[in-house]
Amino acid sequence: MHDPSHDPRLDRRAFLAGGALALAIGSTAAAAPADPGASAAKAGYLFSLGVASGEPLPDGVVLWTRLAPDPLNGGGMGPEPVPVRWEIAEDEAMRRIVRRGTAMAHAAWAHSVHVEANGLAPGRVYWYRFSARGEASPVGRTRTAPAGKVARLRFAAASCQDFQNGYYSAYRHMAREDLDFVLFLGDYIYEYAANPQRTRQHRGGETVTLADYRNRYAQYRADPDLQAAHAAFPWLAVADDHEVENDYANDRSEKQTPPAAFLARRAAAYRAYYEHMPLRPAMAPRAASLPLYRRRRFGDLVDLFLLDERQFRSDQACPGPRWGGQVVNPDKCAELADPRRTMLGAEQERWLLQGLARTTGRWTVLGQQLLMASLIQPMQSGELGVWTDGWDGYPAARRRIADRLVAARVPNPVVLGGDIHSFWVTDIKRDWRDPRAPAIASEFVASSISSSGVPQVITDAGLKLPYVKLAEARWRGYLRCTVTPEAWRTDLMTVDTIARPDATLATLKSFAVEAGRPGPQPA
Ligand code: FE
Ligand code: CA
Repeated sequence: MHDPSHDPRLDRRAFLAGGALALAIGSTAAAAPADPGASAAKAGYLFSLGVASGEPLPDGVVLWTRLAPDPLNGGGMGPEPVPVRWEIAEDEAMRRIVRRGTAMAHAAWAHSVHVEANGLAPGRVYWYRFSARGEASPVGRTRTAPAGKVARLRFAAASCQDFQNGYYSAYRHMAREDLDFVLFLGDYIYEYAANPQRTRQHRGGETVTLADYRNRYAQYRADPDLQAAHAAFPWLAVADDHEVENDYANDRSEKQTPPAAFLARRAAAYRAYYEHMPLRPAMAPRAASLPLYRRRRFGDLVDLFLLDERQFRSDQACPGPRWGGQVVNPDKCAELADPRRTMLGAEQERWLLQGLARTTGRWTVLGQQLLMASLIQPMQSGELGVWTDGWDGYPAARRRIADRLVAARVPNPVVLGGDIHSFWVTDIKRDWRDPRAPAIASEFVASSISSSGVPQVITDAGLKLPYVKLAEARWRGYLRCTVTPEAWRTDLMTVDTIARPDATLATLKSFAVEAGRPGPQPA
């Protein structure tokens, strides 16, 4: 079952054996673990956190690595800047090099590098690697975005990878797929303290400082399955709440931390996020500000809007003693319907609504964090309520997007989300209470990679709603989306367990959307 051609550790060995570059190989460089369940973060290897690529454009990608010989204890690099050589080739053996250069890794950015490798050809596969201080990185594979007339695009969408809750088999399987890119929709890390009751343990307490967040990202990125998925495809990532703190909203902590103190924490979290993600250098944060929302075009086939639903949002309505989300009866929370309440912030919302009026792709995709369909659910009191941290907490803002999709006749809108740790397939409607209202868009929500599923009472409530086609919390996994000019197909990919690192993969169900006919149908 294990396909060595997609295993970056084996690729690196192959490279070392081939000796394509004249490098003085340190004795630790070849000490990669053979057991996929073992930590790759060992024995002082500079590239213990692997390699990654991201932000694919038709003529370039971002190449990422971070020098970290002691990844779980601050990195172990000291204060000095270190030159890192990079090269990108047309072949896996790294013989036909098309671009190379040197980037400086600085202590201020945790010795991470974000190289913009440009001048590449559209829609093709490349391989890349780094070297520094006589050591070579694993070889990563990446792919530029296609341009012009695009016949097919295939990608995975994933979210929510609580390390403590289980293993990342889903990524090991994902790494063997044939994908143009991976979309990550939020909760890349969880900030929580170590919990000895769980399958795997975080190191240290709840993350608050920059040092805490760096060590937490390093612990996640040391996972061999996650490394394999990064080394196999370029990623496009957006963040949700747990990259900073559960349910945070703009400058509001769920723990009622004073906003200035919370923004210092947010700045640390955003900085560590950038340091560990294959983002463009222009996306580096300034203090607590991270320029994350963006638009990507995949030729004439897909216009992708990647949204940020945490940094600029209004605080959750009608807060209880704990700020953050709760289930409230909308009839008892007038604030919910206030049109001034925003999910995206004024600037991002304007950018999105204007962009939606000027798309050029056959399909229009919103890559965002949350379930967008309204989820009416039972409360402990017996009343019906909505969850204030999700889109149901921002109904006027959601309606403004729906109105724009209709008014601008946005071509074939598809909403992708995560956060709720369960699969959801829904019709997006303008008016959720009108059973005759037509579907105006199609929604697919990825289950978690490893985070624990929502209680079945939630999915049972969802399944009673006429616009919910599927709600399934029992399985962890990801979405695999295949897009052509005629149709969109989403396969719900599941692993049979997260209690062990050797789970098997299955397709739970598949849905299709025909171009011109909004609403997913069983495929
Ligand atoms: Fe989550
Ligand atoms: Ca979340």
